[in-house]
Amino acid sequence: MPLLEPDPAKLRPRARPGAPAADRVPEDRAGGTPEPLRGDLVALLGAEKVLTGVSDLVRYASDASPYRFVPRVVVVPEDVDDVSAVLSYAHGKGREVVFRAAGTSLNGQAQGEDVLVDVRRHWTGVEILDGGARVRIAPGTTVARVNAALARHGRVLGPDPASAVACTVGGVVANNASGMTAGTTRNAYVTLASLTFVLPTGTVVDTAEPDADERLARAEPALCAGLMELKAEIEADAQGARDALIEAVAEALVFAAKAGADPAKVREALMGGFASSRILEVHAERMLKRTFDPGFRIELHQKDLGLALAGAKALGVALPNTANAQQLFSACVAQGEGRSDHSAMVKALELMANHSL
Ligand SMILES: Cc1cc2nc3c(=O)[nH]c(=O)nc-3n(C[C@H](O)[C@H](O)[C@H](O)COP(=O)(O)OP(=O)(O)OC[C@H]3O[C@@H](n4cnc5c(N)ncnc54)[C@H](O)[C@@H]3O)c2cc1C
Repeated sequence: MPLLEPDPAKLRPRARPGAPAADRVPEDRAGGTPEPLRGDLVALLGAEKVLTGVSDLVRYASDASPYRFVPRVVVVPEDVDDVSAVLSYAHGKGREVVFRAAGTSLNGQAQGEDVLVDVRRHWTGVEILDGGARVRIAPGTTVARVNAALARHGRVLGPDPASAVACTVGGVVANNASGMTAGTTRNAYVTLASLTFVLPTGTVVDTAEPDADERLARAEPALCAGLMELKAEIEADAQGARDALIEAVAEALVFAAKAGADPAKVREALMGGFASSRILEVHAERMLKRTFDPGFRIELHQKDLGLALAGAKALGVALPNTANAQQLFSACVAQGEGRSDHSAMVKALELMANHSL
């Protein structure tokens, strides 16, 4: 066989002779949705919104990914109340729920082996707002359908996945899908202004409401506390990363200067390569020109890093770069540089190298 010629037979599941087919429906689903799941959901939503036959389960077992998972039941909700009811039920019973829109995802994220919720069939609709500058979309609407409605206003949706003719806006948002031209500047997160979502407990939140944050905090205190912890961790990490960059820039300049090179030329060379960054542009220039009037004062920075390190300790997260930057800022404060801009961190390194730029 020529190199790289596909062999589809290799993808087909093969059973040992005499053994059951490798892709057979598991025993507990061979007769359709097992009890008491079937009865519970039919009682909750009505028989027309609950697909229980084995052929329904098999129909939803595959998607665009190479995986196959047979759900135990497929629910076809018609409104937010139905979704909320399914989630509350599953939450209470410890069952797993997966949403399925067009199923064009390639990694099996629209498949599950318990409760599969079809959020495409009854979830279409497009409302053009502000002459096409904004659009309110029901999540089961395909990207192509939205773009057809926007075309007469000379607009297109930000994300442009190659699956636009089939994939839905709900799937695009959940995947933060992008596309050939969207990149990171027009992906789903950047395009989205607000959304209405249903939490596993059944709580419904419309993020466009002015008091959405307070209502969420009241309804889901544990979830909010967890999210705030994650936020603090990410922000601490981002600040640590920025400080590590300032420190790396200062180190490069002091090293170059002590080696007899022109630090301004070193900065220029670095700007032309992968190290090019806003920090190298702005902070290296301040270091070279010795202009340390505060943009961001070292003493404030030191306070923030102290909070970040305390938070990280409480969470059991290691932030070595942040700790290092904090040491250098403390040395600057000890030298009376607390009110200088944070690019004055170079002074601590100059002192240690016994050499100035
Ligand atoms: C030929 C082809 C080309 C593709 N090209 C691109 C591309 O250029 N760029 C790109 O980013 N991706 C691409 N994809 C991947 C995929 O099409 C996209 O990620 C798309 O966003 C998935 O949308 P969907 O409606 O099929 O969602 P599904 O696959 O059904 O679901 C995706 C995820 O979203 C969740 N979900 C769906 N709807 C909701 C909802 N209403 N509420 C909460 N969660 C929900 C599901 O649980 C799942 O986790 C491509 C796929 C194919 C097959």
